[in-house]
Amino acid sequence: MRVLAFLDGTLADPDQAHLRVDDLGVLRGDGIFETILVTDGKPRELGPHLDRLARSAAMMDLPEPDRAAWERVVQLVIDNWSGSSEIALKLVLTRGIEGDPSSTPTAFALGMEIDEKVKRARAEGIAAITLDRGIGTDVAERAPWLLLGAKSLSYAINMAAVREAARRGAADVIFTATDGSVLEGPTSTVIVARGRTLYTPPPTIGILPGTTQGDVFRAAERAGWTTKVEPLRVAELASADGVFLASSVRKLTRVHTLDGEALPDSTEVHAELARTYEAQYA
Ligand code: PLP
Repeated sequence: MRVLAFLDGTLADPDQAHLRVDDLGVLRGDGIFETILVTDGKPRELGPHLDRLARSAAMMDLPEPDRAAWERVVQLVIDNWSGSSEIALKLVLTRGIEGDPSSTPTAFALGMEIDEKVKRARAEGIAAITLDRGIGTDVAERAPWLLLGAKSLSYAINMAAVREAARRGAADVIFTATDGSVLEGPTSTVIVARGRTLYTPPPTIGILPGTTQGDVFRAAERAGWTTKVEPLRVAELASADGVFLASSVRKLTRVHTLDGEALPDSTEVHAELARTYEAQYA
């Protein structure tokens, strides 16, 4: 099941072609996106997702997204959904048509079913590898034109990293900086548990501020956990009580094996955190 709606409120057939071949999203990956999890008809963290869409747009000199229109189109997709109880809802905004200064951004929302592989990973955990991103933690500040921390459509590098993981027998990646700092996954935020404290690296080092990470941290704090946003070293991961990859669609996925080595068993920590996170949506 898929539902497609354009930002102007028109529903469209997702099996038909709608984009122009000279759309800058197609030609240059010049645009931004969000992926939102909808459960039982309710979008999770819609506000933070739309905040981040606006932040990405500002970083890329795109027009400020029309928040009310995006809220309406999200609801339109949900209202027309007749698939399973969960939707992966993608919001896409491109710079529009190449060479046409009067063109307006191409903007649409696409609701999709969630992949079985993702559901399995949520339940069983995954093996991950660390990969050097080849950058220092000061690059976001020194070279903002590299758009680190913007959720741009240019994800070819991220997808290449996931393929490299597959070649090495793993499902996902934790990117590291040249100084050995933990960055993020290609499509996820890294969360580490040590005792009753959760850690995640700060977005200032050139990573995306995760809406799921924020949500997990707020729920965990209410349940008595301490949370810290501070730099993490890759060498610390092997001894942590839990290493998790968080994102809207995968939720909180446990990393059970890192670079071919089994990590300490985090099944129980994961179950507790997953319960705490879900309880707010019950
Ligand atoms: N970091 C990157 C690079 C991502 O692409 C994503 C989501 O796709 C995340 C982190 C997690 O963000 P969220 O929890 O808002 O889905």
